[in-house]
This record gives sequence, C-alpha cells and structure tokens, in this order.
Amino acid sequence: MKVTAIPAFRDNYVWAIHDDHAAILVDPGEAAPILTWLEARQVKPVAILVTHHHADHVGGIKDITARHAVPVYGPALEAIPGRTHPLRGGETLHIDALNLSFQVLATPGHTLGHLCYVGQGGLFCGDTLFSCGCGRLFEGTPAQMHDSLSRIRSLPPETQIYSAHEYTLGNLAFALEVEPDNAALHRKLAEVRALRDQGTPTLPVDLATEIATNPFLRFDEPSVIVAASQHAGYPLQPGLAAFTAVRAWKDEA
Ligand code: ZN
Ligand code: FE
Repeated sequence: MKVTAIPAFRDNYVWAIHDDHAAILVDPGEAAPILTWLEARQVKPVAILVTHHHADHVGGIKDITARHAVPVYGPALEAIPGRTHPLRGGETLHIDALNLSFQVLATPGHTLGHLCYVGQGGLFCGDTLFSCGCGRLFEGTPAQMHDSLSRIRSLPPETQIYSAHEYTLGNLAFALEVEPDNAALHRKLAEVRALRDQGTPTLPVDLATEIATNPFLRFDEPSVIVAASQHAGYPLQPGLAAFTAVRAWKDEA
C-alpha cells in the first residue's frame, strides 16, 4: 500500500491511497490531474473520501464519478456533490477493494462538518491540521478547533499527517515568530527549505514532530503561552485561551 500526493491547483494535495490496481482519493478538488494520474498507472478509483465542502476539496468529484461509479464519503452536515455515504464522525469505513479500514473523526473548526480519516497509520486531515499550522476558523469556534486538535494530538505519535495543502514554509515563519528559540523549529526550517528547493512535498509529517514544532498543538507549552501572552498584552491560561490567542495572532499576520 502506498500513499501518493497528486498536486492540484497551486498548493493542494489530493492524497491517493493505492496499490497497483486501485486507489482511494482524498479531497479531489480538481479532476484533470487525478484522471491523468490514474490513466498513466492504469489504476482504478474505488472510493472518494471528503473532509469538507470547500471547492478546492470537492471540485473534481463530478467529473471523476461521471467516469467511475465510486462511493463518495463525506460530512453529513455539509453540501458535498455526489455524496453517497454521509458521515458524522465515530464511524468505521471499510473499503473492500483494498481491504482497508478508516476511523472517522469529527473535527469541527475550519468548517462545522469537517471530518478526518484515520487509517493505515495515517491521518487524512484536510484543512484541520497543516504542518506547523492549522486551518482558519471559517465556521467553527476556537473551542471547537481546540477540541479537534486536542483529539488529534492524542493519536499515536508515529501517526503520519496528510494535510491537504503545502503551507509548511509559510507556517514556519509564523511558528518561529512565536518560538524563536525552539531548536526543533530551526532544524525543521532547514529540512523544509531543502525539500522545497527540490520541489518535493513536505508532507506527510509524523505527529511527534508536529507536537514539537506546531504552535497550534503547543497550547500547553510555557514558551508558547508566554509569547502569546506578551502578544495579547495580558496573561493567558494554558489550553484554550493560549490556542485562541495564537490563532488570532496568526490571523493578523
Ligand atoms: Zn478548506
Ligand atoms: Fe483547502
């Protein structure tokens, strides 16, 4: 089993979970690059998993399902084109063609129905978690996103994080503003620059590295709480208050 990034638009990744014959597609925002990828390898799509309703995650579904009749799993709370299997979180999916199972996590925050899929040692997390960043709060509250990220943070540390966007380099600039003395962040910046110079995706990343570097998972770390308190101008409690202040700080940047 492999997981391959199919680049779409300017900075999206559609993740293909596949063997030599069949593929599950996560968040197919654009059909053309996916159909080209499938045809070049003679791989058939067997399922589509959708994290949320934004166009850059669902825009390719219609053209793909017009050619390949595959089930489309997605949030029940959102309008997802072609959705056949509405999900709310808590379900387990089994994709028979690849004999793979995924747990469905409800992760409201970026949108209200946002889902993540956990399976194969990976977390397919759409726009909830990015390397060194998290999604903007378009629909949900800081409390919802803090809860979603807290549950993600408690997954096994070796979990591979498959986000939907290549935002890592930009996110690192902000993360270093929050924690200029975090040595793990400086190491990460050097690695990410080298990868981007070669045009290589910076994803997936393992959860342990994210916990050491991502300010949006570090709302209990003294260094982050002190920096966010200084920026806010008043002392913040660990947890939700610190998370909320860091999210607001990044929104200003
Ligand atoms: Zn989005
Ligand atoms: Fe997106």
